[in-house]
Amino acid sequence: MSVTDENCIFCKIIAGKIPSRKVYEDEELFAFHDINPWAPVHFLIIPKLHIPSVAHATSEHEGLLGRMMLLAPKLALQEGCNPYPEGGFRIVTNTGAEGGQEVHHMHWHVMGGPRPWLRG
Ligand code: 5GP
Ligand code: ZN
Repeated sequence: MSVTDENCIFCKIIAGKIPSRKVYEDEELFAFHDINPWAPVHFLIIPKLHIPSVAHATSEHEGLLGRMMLLAPKLALQEGCNPYPEGGFRIVTNTGAEGGQEVHHMHWHVMGGPRPWLRG
């Protein structure tokens, strides 16, 4: 698995070659608003490392996966999701064609905000 994939749109977003509305960045993670939001709040959390999907993650990625998961509730509140339990948010990681994955760089969708949503 390479660190970046020159043909990957999310790798290009991390590199700033494709513009995005950034939510968060550190040494290993990046988060940005989805271009086609389903919900009032809808952003994506991705690792800077090009991992095609969660099905490709191994034990060496345990820490990374944990940090991605723990970042979601922090950024959800920061981006305007209402607090648990009346508010909350949804975390989704589509995996493979039958899982509905279109961009093959692992990502968490984080969606929230008042209902109704466009989808989901
Ligand atoms: P998937 O279907 O792979 O789980 O989700 C990919 C998501 O990436 C979609 O919700 C889509 O709207 C979003 N997306 C695709 N291309 C771009 C882009 O160039 N910029 C941003 N901000 N989001 C994108
Ligand atoms: Zn990538």
